[in-house]
Amino acid sequence: MISIVIPVYNEGPPLKNLCAEIIKVIKSQFDSGFTIFPPVSAGAKEMPGNYEIILVDDRSTDNSWTVMKALAAGDVNIKIARLCRNFGQHSALTAGLSLTQYEYVVMMDCDGQDEPQNIIALYDTLLKKNVQIVYAKRKNRKDGALKRAASLFVNRIMQGLSGVKHDPEIGTFRIMKRTVVDAYLSMPEKNRFIGGMFYWLNFESATVDVVHQPRASGKSNYNFRKMVKLARLGILSSSTKLLSIGIYIGLITSILSVVAGAYFLSLKFIYDVPLGFTAVIVSIFFVGSIIMLLLGIMGEYMREIFEEVKARPNYIVEEKINF
Ligand code: UDP
Ligand code: MG
Repeated sequence: MISIVIPVYNEGPPLKNLCAEIIKVIKSQFDSGFTIFPPVSAGAKEMPGNYEIILVDDRSTDNSWTVMKALAAGDVNIKIARLCRNFGQHSALTAGLSLTQYEYVVMMDCDGQDEPQNIIALYDTLLKKNVQIVYAKRKNRKDGALKRAASLFVNRIMQGLSGVKHDPEIGTFRIMKRTVVDAYLSMPEKNRFIGGMFYWLNFESATVDVVHQPRASGKSNYNFRKMVKLARLGILSSSTKLLSIGIYIGLITSILSVVAGAYFLSLKFIYDVPLGFTAVIVSIFFVGSIIMLLLGIMGEYMREIFEEVKARPNYIVEEKINF
């Protein structure tokens, strides 16, 4: 009755440990009298078959898939899927969510920063507060300064443009009910920014404070380029207000130019002054750069429209095991 979705990108080493720990958490619940995860049939002595760990390989270039295959061979509850190319974390998560089948769904990272023990607190809060989603709130985020600055920047802009209040302390780690998963999957957009999409869904939610761990091994998969790409998507997908800047600037500058035009014309006709080169060159640069800026913004939205119109799938699963 619980599905755990984990995207994997070049993270072979921590996987074995992670799965073992998740299973331990689930099993400890089983042993303590089925309080949290009731078994399929009462009195069952073995591990309940009512959980699944879904690992989605976002086309890693290291040995992740081999590690995953070994894990899947040893446990039918570990289900693995491999995407045909690197679609990015948010698409890999979407692929994983679409493969889940149970009532409660957890999403987490595979690098050891999200601790499996916290699943219990998340689930507990979900039931006690009777909400649809519970987010893990990362106190003292253990991410690099650049990463934290970038997420703060994006959140500020998103908030300013569309009121999307996405807490930078909230990451991937969360538990939700099936209703939320189905609602999320029913959103058809191709470029998916999970934070903004969940905020838009606006389901009743709660948070649980967790300790964020340093990475188990390796380094973040988000390099500067990937971060800029995600930031751009977060901003563009949260609001279309930027597209309207042009109309406001246009209105203001046209009023200003009528006033300035009348002034300079009067100078010309009354005093016969030659108009200055400086004024001309400055206004050409000024107006030109505003036009270029606005064209650029329009271009960015056109790119998004182009991607959506092409309507290529968010992800393509090449191989599935244990499903
Ligand atoms: N990830 C992914 N595809 C990518 C990049 C990352 O599926 O193209 C996964 C990665 O395996 C991990 C999660 O997304 O489970 C978060 O990645 P990472 O830990 O590198 O990011 P950070 O913790 O720095 O946000
Ligand atoms: Mg991480």
